[in-house]
Amino acid sequence: MSEKLELVYEGKAKKLFQTENPNILWVEYLGQATALNGKKKDIIEGKGELNNKITSTIFERLHEKGIQTHFIKQISESEQLIEKMEMIPLEVVVRNIAAGSFTRRLAVEEGSVLPFPIVEFYYKEDALDDPFINDDHVKALNIATSEEIELLKKSALAINQALITIFKEINIRLVDFKLEFGKNVNGEIVLADEVSPDTCRLWDATTNERLDKDIYRKDLGDILPIYDEVLKRFESTK
Ligand code: 5GP
Repeated sequence: MSEKLELVYEGKAKKLFQTENPNILWVEYLGQATALNGKKKDIIEGKGELNNKITSTIFERLHEKGIQTHFIKQISESEQLIEKMEMIPLEVVVRNIAAGSFTRRLAVEEGSVLPFPIVEFYYKEDALDDPFINDDHVKALNIATSEEIELLKKSALAINQALITIFKEINIRLVDFKLEFGKNVNGEIVLADEVSPDTCRLWDATTNERLDKDIYRKDLGDILPIYDEVLKRFESTK
């Protein structure tokens, strides 16, 4: 059993603690939600447990499909162990259907199916509000080399295909999502952070009901029953 030692990082939805193994971190998912880069913030008791369980399930299913992630195991209702990573300061977004900032920026109708999955990079920097950047910016800012950029895009697209299948099994359309990658001790680029209704747009495949954080971002209601519905669907396919 691992030991929970000092706090090493506190994010908007998670706290990371060192363990006695220098390469393993202890993650605690928090019962709070934020939007608009932290300008909107609320305590939501129970959200940490739901996101921990959903992310753990998704990472396990990605492992079954041969996709490497930082996830080691779920250790409690709201906690998991992960491999320690040197994080790459990028948000890698993949879009299958037009929504969110894509529709606002490019005046494409929400719900339009894109001709192919689109990969975008955002520079993960709170002080700048995570700006949209291109491959040249990523290289010029020394965030990643050309080879690493190609690998990030290839991995993001492979993860997209795996996630489309994983969500289809629970009658959900994967509209878009955000990934974060890190480098493990061997220097390999691996999927990190979380994959949950906080980081994906998920629409019910029959009704188009929103099953994700847009409910919170747009003040459309309570997210707990929505996240619980996603978890229940996963549990029904175990
Ligand atoms: P958009 O650019 O349309 O706002 O977001 C695209 C996708 O990436 C959505 O699924 C959204 O949930 C996710 N995403 C983008 N930025 C963030 C972020 O800073 N935090 C979280 N949790 N998700 C993000």
